[in-house]
Amino acid sequence: MPELPEVETVRRGLAPTMEGATVQRLELRRPDLRFPLPRDFAARVEGHRILALSRRAKYLLIDFEGDLTSIAHLGMSGSFRIEADAAAETPGIFHHERSKDEKHDHVLFHLKGAEGPVRVIYNDPRRFGFMDLMPRSELDTYPAFRDLGPEPVGNILSADYLATRFAGRSQPLKSALLDQKVIAGLGNIYVCEAMWRAHLSPTRKVSSLVTKTGKPKAELGLLTEAIREVIADAIEAGGSSLRDHIQADGTLGYFQHFFRAYDREGRECLTDGCRGTVERIVQSGRSTFYCRHCQK
Ligand SMILES: [Zn+2]
Repeated sequence: MPELPEVETVRRGLAPTMEGATVQRLELRRPDLRFPLPRDFAARVEGHRILALSRRAKYLLIDFEGDLTSIAHLGMSGSFRIEADAAAETPGIFHHERSKDEKHDHVLFHLKGAEGPVRVIYNDPRRFGFMDLMPRSELDTYPAFRDLGPEPVGNILSADYLATRFAGRSQPLKSALLDQKVIAGLGNIYVCEAMWRAHLSPTRKVSSLVTKTGKPKAELGLLTEAIREVIADAIEAGGSSLRDHIQADGTLGYFQHFFRAYDREGRECLTDGCRGTVERIVQSGRSTFYCRHCQK
């Protein structure tokens, strides 16, 4: 499943084409993805200009003029492809290979942009993705957004905030960080990476990161920084390598180079001066990669 930095690279890749363009036709080649497509989807967006592309957690938001926003999730295998007359590109950097097989093209935005007609095509072989449509003014009531915690980018995510969520709770750190009500959009890969950067064990009880008076310990401050930095670094590096990846048509390389703990079972820990080995444990059915020598 794409994680937040991947969705953000998709957003940045699509924005120059989609923002400001007008939907001339919306072509739906099937009535559903994971869920039925919105009722009267085409009729409601055709003729409307796209004001902005934004993102909440792992959801891509397409803002149309007229208080209308489409909410898109890429599921396991979804991707967008841009086709002008001569060229096609698949924006975004993905950990897993994306399909370009036209039989999996399900939703086609026929747009009129500043540089003429262009198609933005949603392809999804496994169809775990979905699209929804609702008034922008009611987005906060959307079920998936209602209870979401703060984004792991920017300054809203603070050690003080995490202390309020962790105080008195015996949950292991790994599962607390995966809870979307605590932090929005943080998934398995970047939770592993952030705990490794902060030298904190995935099995650590979260209450041990908070003082008796409810204040964040220094370790929680380091963890907060590690979360913000790992996401920002992944987005920045993904964005700057976007062009190369499109040209090379290679979707796998970048994120694998980026990982320091994730997917490195049995390999040497990359922490300076640590002689430990990355191991894999299973927590709540998900793999956790960590080094027990430097993550306490
Ligand atoms: Zn280590």
